[in-house]
Amino acid sequence: MDKYQVLKQYFGYDSFRQGQEKLIDGILSGRDVLGIMPTGSGKSLCFQVPALLLGGITLVISPLISLMKDQVSALNQAGVHAAYLNSSLTASQYYRALAYAREGRYPIIYVAPERLLTEEFLDFALHVRISMIAVDEAHCVSQWGQDFRPSYLKIVEFIQRLPVRPVVSAFTATATREVREDIIDILMLQTPEVVATGYDRPNLYLEVRSPRDKYGALKGYVEQHAGQCGIVYCLTRRLVEEVCQKLIKDGFSVTRYHAGLSDEERRKNQDDFIYDRASIMVATNAFGMGIDKSNVRYVVHYNMPKNLESYFQEIGRAGRDGEPSDCLLLYGGQDVVTNQLFIENNQENEALDPQARGLIMERDRERLKKMTFYCFTNECLRDYILRYFGEYGSNYCGHCSNCLSQFEETDVTEIARGIVACVESCRQRYGATVILDTVHGANTVKLRNYRMNENPSYGSLAQTPVYRLRQVMNYLMLKEYLTVTNDEFAIVKLTEKSREILDGEKPVMMKLAREQERTGKGAGEKGTGEKSAGTKKGRRSVGGADFSPREESLFEKLRLLRMETAREEKVPPYIVFSDKTLTHMCIVKPRTRAEMLSVTGVGEYKYEKYGERFLACISQALKEQPGEETETVKKG
Ligand code: ADP
Ligand code: MG
Ligand code: ZN
Repeated sequence: MDKYQVLKQYFGYDSFRQGQEKLIDGILSGRDVLGIMPTGSGKSLCFQVPALLLGGITLVISPLISLMKDQVSALNQAGVHAAYLNSSLTASQYYRALAYAREGRYPIIYVAPERLLTEEFLDFALHVRISMIAVDEAHCVSQWGQDFRPSYLKIVEFIQRLPVRPVVSAFTATATREVREDIIDILMLQTPEVVATGYDRPNLYLEVRSPRDKYGALKGYVEQHAGQCGIVYCLTRRLVEEVCQKLIKDGFSVTRYHAGLSDEERRKNQDDFIYDRASIMVATNAFGMGIDKSNVRYVVHYNMPKNLESYFQEIGRAGRDGEPSDCLLLYGGQDVVTNQLFIENNQENEALDPQARGLIMERDRERLKKMTFYCFTNECLRDYILRYFGEYGSNYCGHCSNCLSQFEETDVTEIARGIVACVESCRQRYGATVILDTVHGANTVKLRNYRMNENPSYGSLAQTPVYRLRQVMNYLMLKEYLTVTNDEFAIVKLTEKSREILDGEKPVMMKLAREQERTGKGAGEKGTGEKSAGTKKGRRSVGGADFSPREESLFEKLRLLRMETAREEKVPPYIVFSDKTLTHMCIVKPRTRAEMLSVTGVGEYKYEKYGERFLACISQALKEQPGEETETVKKG
């Protein structure tokens, strides 16, 4: 078998996602790898696929029992023999699992880092062939990260004890430079292949509102998402209780999670959510780490969180299956105050000296400020987040509430012509800053030295703000009306297309954020609960094609069947089939085995288990609603 066959047969997918193939190839060629990819991008597959091709045993180190359990049941559902070794097993279960492992029954074994150096485990590890160590959530080795785990430091010692050093692969969603360097150093990766895909999660729709009645807005929102799973994050336990009570009273299927509940209740509530017995989870930020549930369709923040790092991590729990999912932040002025109080009373830093504490407070306040700006910006929300993490997005994503409501098609012909004319009149000798300063009419020494203050373009666009000039300049480069030399001087040059602008042949139109209203109405007025939702396109769609009512109803039937099946198998529904797979089934409407196997996420093994049942359900549903057959014919 090759990697493509493994992908298709076990996981039911046709192609690798961005980054996966490079990491898998690296591993298969015997190299260490480090994969830095956002949540939901499919890191597990990067070690699971090669594990099945390498022969021998792959040990996966993972920090949380719930994560291991989830991934192991997903693997077993896909027909891969996998097991986990952690403290949730009784002693006799543990020894049995080890004995099976010795017999070579499991190509993939998940193990808690605390176990690695124990006598029994070492004895096992020294007597089998271990071909790879995969370190999941690898940022746990770094004290810079949010989730440092001292037990992760044992991994290297363990590797050094092995007679033959296996390939070491590491995976994380945390991309800061410190964490990345720590992972490579502490795990002692040897000239690893590093693959970092961007932060962007294009399937997440981002939205901010400042409703006067927060609960009313939330209620309307969950009504719109009826039947879907969602998480509602609140800043405090008190609010979790309050919101949960109200939702229950209004007849929603809700559960809750916060640090004030007993361990047992927390576990039970979490399971209710994971197994789709409760569709809404109201929680503090204590909830979420280790939740791999792939069919969370929306995340609402009832309060603004403390920083964009947290926000990004929390909304990352939506749409792990890659299907469209919604993220709504309900901003209220009180949120800033609450967060400031948290910063001032942060107990965690008690041990630090006053100076260090001061620095951390300062940093946290700065982060809070950036978070608050997110709620008020008129720019593209996605772009704002990406820029915060040091990446460049396009200035317009078309898939956030600002792009849909705050942007307008703007005629920038004038500005474009002014800029291009300046590039021409200075005989293509300067960089972007000089050009922009010139048209803006800036009074600088540099311009006088270059005698640009005598250039005919000097001050030609004095009325246009500099940031707007820069946006247009970027746009002109993006569209190749201008170009820049690829050296340290970055000189702006004309292109073949520049003439079109100079000759004024066609207008230049650009999507731009509406001018922010700086006076009068406070920014807090923007985006009240009433607007926005209506402008977004239909909720379930694949490749832009919205579901017809018939497909909606088929989806519901498949969802029920999935629920039933999951109950029999005692696994969470999304482990049987993901939302994405069900959606794809509704589009394909398979009638045969081959057609069913073409559905994304249906591998051979799953087909053997569930294929017939789902085919029968589809055929039954289509018989019940035959009227629209013509529609399918037209489409197909
Ligand atoms: P991560 O660990 O990066 O957060 P996961 O490994 O949990 O993400 O994968 C998220 C989802 O993406 C899973 O449902 C997985 O089955 C799916 N997935 C992974 N790779 C592919 C692929 N190549 N094609 C389609 N779906 C994929
Ligand atoms: Mg993962
Ligand atoms: Zn946008």
